[in-house]
Amino acid sequence: MTEGLLTAAYIMASILFILSLGGLSNQESARRGNIYGMIGMLIAIVATVLSTQVSSYGVLFVTIVIGAIIGSVVAMRVEMTGMPQLVAMLHSFVGLAAMLIGFASYLDPASHLEGVEKTIHEVEIYLGILIGAVTFTGSVIAFGKLQGIIGSKPLLLPARHLLNLGLGLASIWLGVEFINAESIASGMIPLVIMMIIALVFGVHMVMSIGGADMPVVVSMLNSYSGWAAAATGFMLSNDLLIITGALVGSSGAILSYIMCRAMNRSFISVIAGGFGTTAVSVAGGNEAIQGEVLSTTAEEAAQELKSAKSVIIVPGYGMAVAQAQHLISDISKKLGDKGIKIHFGIHPVAGRLPGHMNVLLAEAKVPYDIVFEMDEINDDFSQTDVVLVIGANDIVNPGAQDDPNSPIAGMPVLEVWKAKKVIVMKRSMAAGYAGVDNPLFYKENTRMLFGDAKDSVDTILSAL
Ligand code: NDP
Repeated sequence: MTEGLLTAAYIMASILFILSLGGLSNQESARRGNIYGMIGMLIAIVATVLSTQVSSYGVLFVTIVIGAIIGSVVAMRVEMTGMPQLVAMLHSFVGLAAMLIGFASYLDPASHLEGVEKTIHEVEIYLGILIGAVTFTGSVIAFGKLQGIIGSKPLLLPARHLLNLGLGLASIWLGVEFINAESIASGMIPLVIMMIIALVFGVHMVMSIGGADMPVVVSMLNSYSGWAAAATGFMLSNDLLIITGALVGSSGAILSYIMCRAMNRSFISVIAGGFGTTAVSVAGGNEAIQGEVLSTTAEEAAQELKSAKSVIIVPGYGMAVAQAQHLISDISKKLGDKGIKIHFGIHPVAGRLPGHMNVLLAEAKVPYDIVFEMDEINDDFSQTDVVLVIGANDIVNPGAQDDPNSPIAGMPVLEVWKAKKVIVMKRSMAAGYAGVDNPLFYKENTRMLFGDAKDSVDTILSAL
């Protein structure tokens, strides 16, 4: 493929990636956005494979086939609830690739540059390995936390801010040493030490973040993986990789900022590794929860719903686990047919992925015009007869507003307790992802409907 054709293909792919991001910003155009992204990626891969940079096809095809098989099997097998872990694992691969390409690029005898060009190339290598290493270990720890292998409790080392500052200053000093190194062998020493520091920083950054702040970490690592890819693009002088990396990096950063605002967290505090996180009691705030837990049955719940004039359904992670979205969609239709006003209320961090609940409700064909974001619906709870909470916990925890010592203090929540009656469907009194007890379950107007959400919804549907 000629250089001109390659550039044209890369421009085409870049435009499709931009259109893809545009499409993904709205539920109705998201499918189209995905298709643009897929076509863009296909063009990018074919153009790169046919470019003059590729000299031997043997190794390339074997690795592509192995990668495609592993990727397809993993993607087919993964449950919707396991998507965040998969995304974290994929981010770690981008980080690892940036590190390996950084070293390969430094050791490549063909890249013999002089003067300013050499310095620029070394800065690219240094930054690529630095960002790649932080992304790699940060994503591995995020995978462990999301998979439940590592506890969600934040690791708050006594001198953590000094430690972060020390690691940052050491990396700058090592960078100067690396650029000034006389030979590849002497440059390797600061490069490897910096890589170890960056690997440690990645672990520390994610370990120091509490369970409820994990959504921000996932989107932030998404952003880091984009910057790592952009750095790789600079090292390889590949324009498309630079553009794509910058798109992922900046859109991930914007998403992290939006998530931080939605959760009332400081953006700087999260990207600097829990800076400003105060030592809070993780078992649940300091306040003893008062009240009695009252349970109900699916038949009673159906009766409550039938006699209500307005109902709000609040889904959470448990709905995804139980795969109860189709049945809850049927209930909403049935209640709607009876003339009951029915809305869905979605918290920005419900579930385990940004937009997780929206995706499930769209899959179950719930009309978009009855699905409302937290800010749009929070004032309506006080005029609502029944709120049906299905597998949600942290996002409806009043402790976030009432208990300043709670790990989720300050996080905006759906104020479901303001409704006349709240029915909470879950299997037990267990805490949610942030590991915090929920005073909602003890309120006078709350009734707990214990059991798997799908079974409960099924029985309610039959009773309706
Ligand atoms: P939570 O994890 O707080 O609570 C989910 C509840 O669902 C659990 O308490 C569990 O209770 C219940 N549950 C689980 N399985 C079932 C089932 N089969 N049937 C019925 N109930 C079930 O979820 P929320 O959606 O309320 O909050 C999301 C949390 O996840 C927040 O803390 C958020 O910060 C965090 N997070 C969000 C991410 C995102 O991007 N959205 C990413 C990473 C973390 P029980 O075991 O008793 O049934």
